[in-house]
Amino acid sequence: MDCPKCKTPNLNQVKLNQKLTAHQCAKCSGNWLNGDAYKIWQSSQLIDHINQNNLTWIDQEIEDFTPSQFDNKAAFCPECRQYLSRGKVSINPPFYVEKCLQCKGIWCDGGEWEILNKLNLHYQLDSLFSSEWQSLIREKQHQNQEKQALINKIGKDLATKIFGLGDILENHPNGDFAVAYLMRKVGQSEKIKNY
Ligand SMILES: [Zn+2]
Ligand SMILES: [Zn+2]
Repeated sequence: MDCPKCKTPNLNQVKLNQKLTAHQCAKCSGNWLNGDAYKIWQSSQLIDHINQNNLTWIDQEIEDFTPSQFDNKAAFCPECRQYLSRGKVSINPPFYVEKCLQCKGIWCDGGEWEILNKLNLHYQLDSLFSSEWQSLIREKQHQNQEKQALINKIGKDLATKIFGLGDILENHPNGDFAVAYLMRKVGQSEKIKNY
């Protein structure tokens, strides 16, 4: 089996953990997970482990991780030659895992399996291709863009205060009164300025 990304021939058989075997590229360190092997391993795991992820990391920057230079490269399944479909995992930095829709094999570029372990997503790689996950990622991306737009308008210091205040008000039963106050206050000074 050849590497789907850098084309190095003969992927090496490696153990990703006690029970899971993969084929690894000696050059780019990517891992190919055979669809059946992954499924068997996944179903042997305690169900508690699955969906245990609280996803608090999704807004944060993933530290000490730089996606592989091959992450954006399109590739074909090393087993059945079908085009590999891409599933976005995170926003900051963005990276993708790839899956063959025919044999269900999964490709992780170099370093990705390790980071998926850290994020506790390695138990549920198939769910990263679901429409639920992909719409969650889009929603978070949108929120981040909105935050960035505010930072550009009012500066990072004030924006950070507003984000903190937003979180407090969102969770306060009468938070909307405080928002109404701010809107009146800011609206009034706008009127005076324009007068
Ligand atoms: Zn490779
Ligand atoms: Zn395949």
